[in-house]
This record gives sequence, C-alpha cells and structure tokens, in this order.
Amino acid sequence: MCMAFSVHVNMNRCTGCGNCVVSCPVNALELYTLDPVTKEKIYHVKDGKSISMDVNMELCAGCGVCVGACPYGVITLAGKGQAGVFV
Ligand code: SF4
Ligand code: SF4
Repeated sequence: MCMAFSVHVNMNRCTGCGNCVVSCPVNALELYTLDPVTKEKIYHVKDGKSISMDVNMELCAGCGVCVGACPYGVITLAGKGQAGVFV
C-alpha cells in the first residue's frame, strides 16, 4: 500500500524524552542509542546521547498524535493525501 504521508523527526533537536514513543497508539516509533562497539540498538536512552528514531511507516497511521506529544515540536507529519504539504 502506498502511504501518502510521512513522519519526520528532527534529531538535532530531539532530547530523547520518549513522549512520542509512549504516545503512539500503534508503537510505530522506536527510540534507541547505538552501541559504539557492537552497533546494536540500546533502548534505554541515557543523557540523550547519539539517539536515533525509527518510524515504522508500515505501522504508522498518520494520526499525528506524536506531533502533539512532542514538547519540543521536532516532529513533523506530511499530511494524508496531501503530498508535499509539510506543516
Ligand atoms: S502519526 Fe500516529 S501512528 Fe504515526 S508515528 Fe505518530 S503517533 Fe504513531
Ligand atoms: S517527544 Fe520529541 S523530543 Fe521527545 S523523544 Fe519524541 S521527538 Fe524527541
């Protein structure tokens, strides 16, 4: 199925607080650090260091809850059926 929307997280400004991860009703968001040696994902985020966010767009319903849940406004959602519209 072709998704007409996408979620983008500005990781330069993300603090790793995890609010968005908790808020997502379908658990499409994954926040982790990478072990510098093994390159494995570490799910307990410490001090916001080297954090990355995965958005599973196959799960994401484009509901926008994560956008509202982010206290720092670093998540943007390109609208459903509105290709190219970023708010
Ligand atoms: S838009 Fe909704 S479903 Fe998609 S990642 Fe955000 S909270 Fe989850
Ligand atoms: S809610 Fe915002 S600041 Fe917190 S982890 Fe998610 S994107 Fe980062």
